[in-house]
Amino acid sequence: MSKKNINLSSVKGTHDILPHEQFVWEKLRKGIRHVAEIYSFSRIDTPILENLDLFQRGVGEATDIVEKQMYTLTTKGGDKLVLRPEGTSAIARAYIQHGLSHMSQPLKVYYDGPFFRYEQPQAGRYRQFNQVGFEIIGGENDPIYDVQVMITALRLLESLKFKNISIHLNSIGCKACRAIYKKKLLNYYKNNKKEICKDCNRRMLDNPLRLLDCKDEHCEAVKKEAPSIIDDLCTPCRKHFKEVLEYAEELKLPYQIDPFIVRGLDYYNRTVFEFFVEIESADGEKTTSLALGGGGRYDYLFEILGHRNTPAIGMAFGMERIVEAIKACNINLLPRQKNKIFLIAIGIEAKKKGLSLIEEFAGSGINVSESIGKNSLGAQLKASDKEGASWALILGQKEVFKESVIIRDLKTGVQETVLLKKVVAEIKKRL
Ligand code: ATP
Ligand code: MG
Repeated sequence: MSKKNINLSSVKGTHDILPHEQFVWEKLRKGIRHVAEIYSFSRIDTPILENLDLFQRGVGEATDIVEKQMYTLTTKGGDKLVLRPEGTSAIARAYIQHGLSHMSQPLKVYYDGPFFRYEQPQAGRYRQFNQVGFEIIGGENDPIYDVQVMITALRLLESLKFKNISIHLNSIGCKACRAIYKKKLLNYYKNNKKEICKDCNRRMLDNPLRLLDCKDEHCEAVKKEAPSIIDDLCTPCRKHFKEVLEYAEELKLPYQIDPFIVRGLDYYNRTVFEFFVEIESADGEKTTSLALGGGGRYDYLFEILGHRNTPAIGMAFGMERIVEAIKACNINLLPRQKNKIFLIAIGIEAKKKGLSLIEEFAGSGINVSESIGKNSLGAQLKASDKEGASWALILGQKEVFKESVIIRDLKTGVQETVLLKKVVAEIKKRL
């Protein structure tokens, strides 16, 4: 073994979720399960590894994800694989592979789990991050599904006590009307060529719509004056968008039309949207919008993958973004303090009895904490204090001999001795 020090930091762009941070994640997962149940989404899990060409074809060659963000690898057998950068293509693959079109349609599924993109790490941006997504696949091409996905996503954020949620909503039309718009857009950008970044100069050649998705501040300024796609929608796309807006009105979705939302993936058509929350600065002076996730209709994806035309709509949130927004908005999701019981045992016979007592409590559905590996009364009391316990159950030699246990109220210091066989009932009474 070499003597070189091992690098003990997590890999760049990855992060640990430590025990004390888990409760927020658990709240989030619970919220996901809850809204999934309300709106009848079934869970689906797909592998982390997929074939490279799934995303090259599905997401599109001229997107940021495929151009520069994929973790690709070649197996010993020579297969080209990728750590999945997004969920929708993988779910479409599973839908085709397992003939899920034979189940009742539309199929409503949700997922959550890790995704991988080779991006420059910064606040809210990682190389391994988690997403939760909802998809409605197959059946009729009805705008009502667009709104069902949005209401599910909205209710998830509301269940996490977010306020000031807004949905930026747009339609990017179909292949036909988008082609006309692309020409207009290109003309506009040609006249502003000098103002935009290098990437955008390249985007003009291979994916003009992506010009509107650039985060460069000079490009953002140019974007403000760009032509709006909504003016160019064809009659069927216009009708579809109008119906989406009518349903959105009916449900009072907090939406605003934003003609510059285009999304970073190629498979989208018609409805696209992004979810934002307003975050106040620490001094309360300034608010900024944080993008938590987005989605849209992807009626072309199944054909791109060689399957028959299948209408679909979906969205995904970044889970780290949500957790960071919870912190930034000072949302308190901590559970109400429950009364905790702490077991203290001195000496081997007492420890034996203590172990059985913990089991007896567990059988009655009551959790008992302990620090039973420590020997002294002082050390164990200190541990009970750290836990914030309400009562200590103390077992010493004398108690073992008398088949009893001391219940000590840790706030008042008042204590009482009860028979071992009665202690569970006694604690139940106090809880
Ligand atoms: P962005 O514009 O922020 O790069 P995107 O267009 O790549 O997002 P999607 O691919 O639709 O967005 O992903 C949906 C959500 O997933 C994003 O809004 C964000 O919350 C989250 N997400 C995307 N990339 C990352 C990342 N590298 N790290 C953490 N979260 C991410
Ligand atoms: Mg991105």
